[in-house]
Amino acid sequence: MKYSIIGIFAAIIMVFSVFAATAFDTESRVNRYQQHLESRQPYEGCSCDKSELCTHLPLVLIETGGNTIPGEPITDEFGNELGYVTTAENEEMITSKISVISDETKNHHPSDEPDLESNILIRIRGNSSRYFNKKNYLIRLTDENGEYQNKEMLGMDSHYEWALHGPYLDKSLIRNYMWYNIAGEFMEYAPNVRFCEVIIDGKYQGLYVMTETITNGDNCRVNISEPVDGTDKTGYVLRLDRGSHTQIRNIETFTNYTYRNLQKIDIEYPRSGKLTPELANAIAQDFSYFEKSLYSYDYDTENYGYSQNINVQSFADYFIINEFTSNYDAGWLSTYIYKDIGGKYNMVIWDFNSACDNYAAYAFPAEGFQMQNVVWYFMLMKDERFNQEIINRYKKLRETYLSDEYLNQYIDDTVAYLGDAIDRNFEVWQNTFEMDMLKPSERNIKSHEEAIQQMKDFISERGAWMDENIEIIKQYGHESKNKKFNH
Ligand SMILES: [Zn+2]
Repeated sequence: MKYSIIGIFAAIIMVFSVFAATAFDTESRVNRYQQHLESRQPYEGCSCDKSELCTHLPLVLIETGGNTIPGEPITDEFGNELGYVTTAENEEMITSKISVISDETKNHHPSDEPDLESNILIRIRGNSSRYFNKKNYLIRLTDENGEYQNKEMLGMDSHYEWALHGPYLDKSLIRNYMWYNIAGEFMEYAPNVRFCEVIIDGKYQGLYVMTETITNGDNCRVNISEPVDGTDKTGYVLRLDRGSHTQIRNIETFTNYTYRNLQKIDIEYPRSGKLTPELANAIAQDFSYFEKSLYSYDYDTENYGYSQNINVQSFADYFIINEFTSNYDAGWLSTYIYKDIGGKYNMVIWDFNSACDNYAAYAFPAEGFQMQNVVWYFMLMKDERFNQEIINRYKKLRETYLSDEYLNQYIDDTVAYLGDAIDRNFEVWQNTFEMDMLKPSERNIKSHEEAIQQMKDFISERGAWMDENIEIIKQYGHESKNKKFNH
């Protein structure tokens, strides 16, 4: 009996070491383009007479023809959100034109010949950011017939849909750019991003980040299979958030109807053209099947448990990067998960504007963990093996992409790359340094330099605390007296 127990332990250790050798290989770096290191730099200069805007960053010009871009929030007298402004024809988006000036061999001016021109549909996007003066936009490239048209954008893979994110709450201006790129260095997929400066109808709008949306494309983005005609087979992307008001896309899954998840789940891919009610229903059932197995007594078993269904490292990485940055919308808002036909679920990061103690409503201390309470993770973290995966992975990442040295250098390099674009942005948005955006008031940032220092200080404190305390997540996976009867 004694020997068989030792044998079992030996087998477990062997399984673990094989797993560790493949799962924790940080050398398998995704080859990711880093704009701030590889594209045109501010010091390369320009010999123009500076009679118009001259920038080393790509320029994005949008012409609405004098129309108002829809999507402003509508609120009642108490500030409750009732919906979003549409056009007089009840359309959510308007037709406009985009011109992108991005030739890497020279600086860019609004009068330069565009490197990309297209018709677009455009609207304001976001949740809380819709209330900011500097708007975020959703853009869809269209052809002359109004059909979606895939095109490369600032060197990013060809697609018709783009998010134009304007850092506003984030006074460092670099949170999304930085954390998306860093996540993209060790996760299977994180949205690609490029800084640019934006002019709408001739009016300079400041610094933006052109961002891939989380959806499928032709060999790009999450890169999953399209629906197989006549069947319910398809890869899919889901988003956990407050819910769209689109009936087919909004599905109810096991954790919804059992009230383990109080947020809404939407199908982000397949899109409305291909998404039938039958296919949406099949996706809801498929996802519920996973959730039922995760919330069962078999959740951690070899044959029925979560390891059959999820890419464990992806879920561990998602935990680590969101905990490391205290990005606590994760698991509640803008939470993306995808799966290919017959594949496993992966997580995708999104939105770091409130990360690193930039959450508006209150401060997050550098101590503590929260992600153990969010949907799916509540169960995953009951398993000691999952928690050990997080611990091992965290320690590896702290030696590489999440080391203080790497992150501080990343911040300094990115700020150097932006150069005078930072000043141009805050010439337009200077008043945001006087606004009471964070509570309590003393948290509000007074300059870009202060914003950069605040993020560096947070990273340093948070990293030190997690180094010291990462092992405490084991407490969420302790064996219980009940559990042993279910094996
Ligand atoms: Zn110039």
